[in-house]
Amino acid sequence: MRRKMAAGNWKMNGTAEALGEVDKLLAAHPAPSCDVLICPPATLLHRLSDRLQGSAVRAGGQDCHAAETGAHTGDVSAAMLRDAGATHVILGHSERRSDHGEADDTVRAKTEAALGADLVAIVCVGETEAQRDAGETLGVISTQLKGSIPDGASGETLVVAYEPVWAIGTGRTPTLDQIAEVHDAIRAELSERFGAEAADAVRLLYGGSVKPANAEEIFGVSNVDGALVGGASLKADDFGGIIAAL
Ligand code: PGA
Repeated sequence: MRRKMAAGNWKMNGTAEALGEVDKLLAAHPAPSCDVLICPPATLLHRLSDRLQGSAVRAGGQDCHAAETGAHTGDVSAAMLRDAGATHVILGHSERRSDHGEADDTVRAKTEAALGADLVAIVCVGETEAQRDAGETLGVISTQLKGSIPDGASGETLVVAYEPVWAIGTGRTPTLDQIAEVHDAIRAELSERFGAEAADAVRLLYGGSVKPANAEEIFGVSNVDGALVGGASLKADDFGGIIAAL
């Protein structure tokens, strides 16, 4: 039985005062029945993980470099995230893919680095609106999965987030049937590649305009094991509402 997961992706939002929302969240949900993860900007990771000591909530990074150390100005390695208190890292988010030109092979190398540093890798995939309109969704997702997930990555060290690009930050979400179709296809693809047992342990998160009002119905969809939440993870009340729906 996979444990459900609510992962918050703060993106490039939040300075020290944002930790006040974390205090509110911890007070309102001292013993969540699902895994709860907060991925703040790298600048807050250390302070956040200090704040989370003794709680059930974990901290994660939003990206890492594929290399362990070296001349990569502005980048952060997986081991550095781990050192700052992270247990997870988001990789291949569509904003990394579009803003930084990350292709599947880069995401795969980063995922290998994350697993090597003992981080759980949350690998993101998702189609653009043009790709969905052209009927290419399942093919795009399959290509991204094949290219972004390294051999040997499955089971509990891997989480896959399905995030349709057109649903991120737009208030639009796919129909429940569309979510089910993609999540079932992801599970089948992982199963074919890694075997049913390892694939069954991988959590599949849906992401893109999840909020308290739509969380419950999305969490009822086949093969949805939780959510990767952007905007609604910034406020304790909203994120708490999503956690309560899991
Ligand atoms: P959103 O973002 O919840 O603000 O749509 C989701 C994400 O990009 O992870």
